[in-house]
Amino acid sequence: MQTHTKNPNGRCCVNLPKIALVPLVYNRPIPVGFKVKTGTVIREADGWYVSFTIEDKTTPVEVVEIQPTEDNSKGIDLGLLHYAVTSDGEFIEVPKFFRLSEHRLSKLQVRLAKKTKHSKAWKILRRKIAKLHQLIARQRLDWQFKLAYHLFSDVSVIFLEELQIANLVRRCKAKLASNGQFLPNGQLAKSGLNKSLQDAATINSLDVLQYIAWKLGKRVVKVDPKGTSQHCWECLNRVSKSLSDRFAARHERHSCPKCGQELDRDYNSALLIQKIGLLSTQEEDITSVKTAVRVSQTEESLALP
Ligand SMILES: [Zn+2]
Repeated sequence: MQTHTKNPNGRCCVNLPKIALVPLVYNRPIPVGFKVKTGTVIREADGWYVSFTIEDKTTPVEVVEIQPTEDNSKGIDLGLLHYAVTSDGEFIEVPKFFRLSEHRLSKLQVRLAKKTKHSKAWKILRRKIAKLHQLIARQRLDWQFKLAYHLFSDVSVIFLEELQIANLVRRCKAKLASNGQFLPNGQLAKSGLNKSLQDAATINSLDVLQYIAWKLGKRVVKVDPKGTSQHCWECLNRVSKSLSDRFAARHERHSCPKCGQELDRDYNSALLIQKIGLLSTQEEDITSVKTAVRVSQTEESLALP
């Protein structure tokens, strides 16, 4: 892969093997001393892009060794009702512009369905839709980057659940009454949930967080998600809640019969995630509620939050 080549007209070009010298516009120059390793050509709605990976062997590779403490870390619960809740008690909502763009998208799609396929109007509309898709993807990525910087602004370690999105987007089980009739099973509410999950708490977002952590020399530590929404962060007692309970307003709070803790259930999870995350070590990256319960039982007086 060769860059910085000029064509006879004096334009900057990239030499794509087996294709040609292709003129390009740099969005930023390749830093001095770096060698272009690979180039990936991508087609997007508004044109062609080439993305380079560059390398400078003289740059040292640093491995971060930050030991999390109560003060330099926070736990984050990627929520369903909220985009995320942190253990500092910050509730982060899904920005409204996602919904607005989506609303515009669905309206365009309805219009597209009414047009004759491959007609001129159909082609114009389809292009518009592709551009809107691109806009939504860029808005989302931009927001995820800003959020990642924001979350790392006051801490060095972030504890997160090792999320399995696929489990969360599954359909609810059908509920049958004794007379064989279908009962409400929360799928309607969950359809909205699936949507918000897919457009917000995607694995993509976790990748962004990890990338920013690496860039800032900070850490993301994953925690076993088992039981993080069920146990009390203060006394680790199990307070059963089911996922579908989230839609019943009366169950939105976590209230512990043992120690009397009474708070938002997602906030409880964030605090619990931080608590169990603090038990993790450099060697073993994933800790679980089980470990937390075991540790708290062995050293009755737990010095952690
Ligand atoms: Zn409790």
